[in-house]
Amino acid sequence: MKLIITEVGLRDGIQNDAVFVPTADKIRLIQQLFDAGVRSVEATSFVSPQAVPQLVDAEDVIRGLRKPAGASVSALAPNVRGAHRAIRAGVDELVVFLSASESHNRKNVNRAVSDSLKGIEEIAELAAAHSVKVRGAIATAFGCPFEGDVPPQVVAGIARAFRAAGVTHLTLGDTTGMGTPAIVRRVCGEVLSAVSDAALSLHFHNTRGMAMVNVAEGLALGIAEYESSIAGIGGCPFAPGATGNICTEDMVNYLHECGHETGIDVARLTGVALEMERLLGRTLPGQLMRAGPRSRLHPMDSVRTAAAQPTA
Ligand code: ZN
Repeated sequence: MKLIITEVGLRDGIQNDAVFVPTADKIRLIQQLFDAGVRSVEATSFVSPQAVPQLVDAEDVIRGLRKPAGASVSALAPNVRGAHRAIRAGVDELVVFLSASESHNRKNVNRAVSDSLKGIEEIAELAAAHSVKVRGAIATAFGCPFEGDVPPQVVAGIARAFRAAGVTHLTLGDTTGMGTPAIVRRVCGEVLSAVSDAALSLHFHNTRGMAMVNVAEGLALGIAEYESSIAGIGGCPFAPGATGNICTEDMVNYLHECGHETGIDVARLTGVALEMERLLGRTLPGQLMRAGPRSRLHPMDSVRTAAAQPTA
């Protein structure tokens, strides 16, 4: 299957990071992602600079990019003001979001889900007037840290509301890594039958080690679009110290091993992950960047021979 990978590390990954990544480095990392074959990048968020100082340079990042043919650059637009800024800066796609659970939506944006939807309708109209695409992200689609399981019908209802607002590209987000393959099957099944003409992306977090098996479940359902974060950057505010976003190079490596196509060069992607690690100055969760590809063999004399006791 030909798959589309959206890199979200420069937004979802670094937005809560204590280390400020300089604008020139953000632009350089995105160019390196393009060079590695990534064709969809969520580059920043047009939030208030006071709220997220890490993304204070949203305009400069978007304007500084040299996009290869066929590439799409998206940015989060949390409100109409942010949407105006993103459109002026020249994004190809706006990402609008809400949570499937009322309590998470209140905690996240201090609004009822219905109020978030009204704001999204307004942004969708604005985007349509400027021929800019919109992606609707539904957070906590596979579980809410305050309410537990979110009924699949609730997620499907929100998907229908997005569709009614003209949003035909949806992302289901596993914000705190509560998804399991069985839940992914139920929720995606319900959403796919509710909005059969919409394109669906999945955004998993590896908080409980389930991200890759959830991708496998998505693939089994025929879903062809996945979001991920280079080097696995991005934590989760509700589970301190826990791993956040699924790691892009680990996921792409897995997808290739399953025989799928992404158009991405894993070795170059791993190079970008190591560069991100250098910039943030600490060890990041990605695994392939530690172990190297499985094709990399080691000389036998590089490890000591075990004591002369035959093992079973
Ligand atoms: Zn995420």
